[in-house]
Amino acid sequence: MNDTWSAINSLASQLDSQSRHGSDQRLLVATVKLQEEVGEVAEAVIGVLGENLRKGRSHTMDHVRAEACDVAVTALILLARTGCNTEQVFSEHLRHLTARSAAGTAAPTADLAVEPQINVLGAPVPGDDRMRATLAPSVRTGGCLCGQIRFEVTGEPDYPHTCSCSHCKALSGAPMMTWVSFKLDGFSWTGPGDEPSWHYTWPDSRRGFCPSCGSQLCAQDDGADSIALTFFALGNPTGLVPVNQSFRDDAVSWLPQVPDTQHSTVATVA
Ligand SMILES: [Zn+2]
Ligand SMILES: [Zn+2]
Repeated sequence: MNDTWSAINSLASQLDSQSRHGSDQRLLVATVKLQEEVGEVAEAVIGVLGENLRKGRSHTMDHVRAEACDVAVTALILLARTGCNTEQVFSEHLRHLTARSAAGTAAPTADLAVEPQINVLGAPVPGDDRMRATLAPSVRTGGCLCGQIRFEVTGEPDYPHTCSCSHCKALSGAPMMTWVSFKLDGFSWTGPGDEPSWHYTWPDSRRGFCPSCGSQLCAQDDGADSIALTFFALGNPTGLVPVNQSFRDDAVSWLPQVPDTQHSTVATVA
């Protein structure tokens, strides 16, 4: 399988080196190319079935197989052009599909057997592997309301949870905020505004927000190897369900609290 991935990566970089376009355009070209290949596999299947009355049975199943392989290779080159570790992202996605298929539902699970530590932000303590939730990993993108601050993140989401601490309430103007963490090595700022503006809520812990539209985006402890993102900076974070609520004592009395599901399978999500 390693040969497959080195072949895909080498094909992608070979095509990149021959291209006159920038990375955005190369991504678009790869998408159009994929559509072209899908059209060719359709033509081959129609040719096998003899559905084109003018051409009759113009193709064999070998043609269909070859065209299907072209679709797969072109899709993987498109994946490589999104700037990720293609093998890791594809394998993780495949694992998720397999698990979902085995479960017969789209429900993710959080395998959190032990009570995790929670820091002052209600965010996971870096390096605490007990918090690792086995949720669907993939390439995720997000950002602020006005589009100045954008980010891309890969890797496993860690400890999705809400927090009703005084900082979360004051900053959001709402009863709670919702958080999920990712390792920094899979994270990058990608928007025209680059990094958000920062405000220290504790001497060693800061919140990131868009200086233009004010969206609350993230929280980070100094020196940590992970970043906590707000759920809704991630747009529609499919597959993520909070497994706990931090600072319950500070929560408003007029809303139900998020149940602690760390010791059991996370609830089903659409
Ligand atoms: Zn903004
Ligand atoms: Zn909080």
